[in-house]
Amino acid sequence: MTRPLPQLTPMNEWFWTSGADDRLRIQGCTECRTLVHPPVPVCPACRSRSWAPTVVSGRGTVVAFTVNHHPWHPAFEPPYAIANVALAEDATVHLTTNIVGCDPDDVSIGQEVAVRFEQHEDVWIPLFEPTGTSDAVNRVPEPQRPAPRAPVASDRYEHRVVLSGVGRSAIGRRLMVDPLSLTVDACLEAVADGGLTLDDIDGLSTYPGMVGMGLSEGGVTAVEEALRLHPTWINGGGELPGPGGAVIAAMLAVAGGLCRHVLCFRTVWESTYAALRLGPGSGGGRVSGPLLEWRAPFGAMSAANWIGMNANHYLHRYGATRELLGWIAINDRANAARNPAAIYREPMTMDDYLSARPITSPFGLYDCDVPCDASVAVVVSDATVAADLPKPAIRIEAVGTQITERISWDQDTLTHEPQVIGQSSHMWTRTSLRPGDVDVAMMYDGFTFNAITWIEALGFCGFGEAKDWLDGGRRIALDGELPVNPHGGQLSEGRTHGFGFIYEAVQQLRRDAGERQVAGAKTAVVTSGGGTPSGVMLLQRDET
Ligand code: ZN
Repeated sequence: MTRPLPQLTPMNEWFWTSGADDRLRIQGCTECRTLVHPPVPVCPACRSRSWAPTVVSGRGTVVAFTVNHHPWHPAFEPPYAIANVALAEDATVHLTTNIVGCDPDDVSIGQEVAVRFEQHEDVWIPLFEPTGTSDAVNRVPEPQRPAPRAPVASDRYEHRVVLSGVGRSAIGRRLMVDPLSLTVDACLEAVADGGLTLDDIDGLSTYPGMVGMGLSEGGVTAVEEALRLHPTWINGGGELPGPGGAVIAAMLAVAGGLCRHVLCFRTVWESTYAALRLGPGSGGGRVSGPLLEWRAPFGAMSAANWIGMNANHYLHRYGATRELLGWIAINDRANAARNPAAIYREPMTMDDYLSARPITSPFGLYDCDVPCDASVAVVVSDATVAADLPKPAIRIEAVGTQITERISWDQDTLTHEPQVIGQSSHMWTRTSLRPGDVDVAMMYDGFTFNAITWIEALGFCGFGEAKDWLDGGRRIALDGELPVNPHGGQLSEGRTHGFGFIYEAVQQLRRDAGERQVAGAKTAVVTSGGGTPSGVMLLQRDET
């Protein structure tokens, strides 16, 4: 069994065959000499269209790594080291790769390495081996809070809409039911919850739409075929500001007058999908696409590997330990004990957390959210209906959607999960509220580290300060200064992929959250995604 190999195209063939003469080549702008990776058809620095494969020294520095312990693919026997190497010529140009020629446990940040190619068929895979050690990690710049674009108008489209209804299907492991039936369960409940009927619904919006892998019921197409709503507007796709971007898109459609009540939904059935072994085989075809081409050939098959590298860089840079991540997992689990819908509700101690099966360093089993079957639906309505709703309407104070960071997961500062700092800064430009006004925070926790990243990106504390700010988890507890994920988050309730946070925020702001209610909750921040473009919303109970 060989490594997954990249599909060669006119755009990338020069890179993947460069090792034929034992030399590493990177796209170089012929006008301004900027090195660019992954390749794009225009220089991001000077916008020149003129570039050439440019020979570099093949030397670099390990700036992030993860020791993978999980058997993702038969070609890679765990444990093995996946690393992010910054090139000697330009420390902002990174390659995801493997460190070979040493024990995986000996890989460290700051290690100097040199390229060594491994040929498979017509592809030369660039691997790196240690040559010595240095402390070059500080060549990776500190993250900066960007200055997002100012609002283009004084009015806010967010204020022309409300969240009127929410609904949810059963949540569970291996429910073994048709995912479309989960979607219909959630949708019918959301419509009824808003005091509406299906005839009132004139828009449909979802994320990520018609995709496989247990990540969707089939999208708008499948739901419309089931419900026959005849919508005037539809939206479904993955290129949105996170899963919650489907709700943000619906806000725009309603604020723009195209429709009045948009039914938004998000369904996962990864648990049953895996149990039925419906996935593609691990052998055979070549990998392509921006997420896999640059990572799968190195056994970096999962977001756990990609985010694990950033998490290790963060811990190294700021002098934090795994306990910081553990506080997120333990807090989620403690809260889930008060949530009857959560999949995992038994208490977890720090010892439980630290001794869990390793997945990919620094992540163990409890750093990774729980694949499940579930659907969540949210109705976005015109704000003029707010007074007529059976339950308190939820206002949208502001959203944050601007991309300011590199889209590539491995090319940015490596200190935080990419695609959260820009969106967070953007949201605060659209409101006079400040972090201190937030009563409850829904921090996306696909991995524990995502939540740390959002807490810092949103400015609840400074970059690198979470290890002190969390105060051993006390500050984010249900009775703490900033309760985080009162429902247990995706780590304990289940991976409803963003929409579960919206559902819980609505419950909290309506003060319908039962045993886990945050007293007097008026303002909630809700994040979704990270890595790929993400989004964030500031929600408020309507008290007008
Ligand atoms: Zn240039």
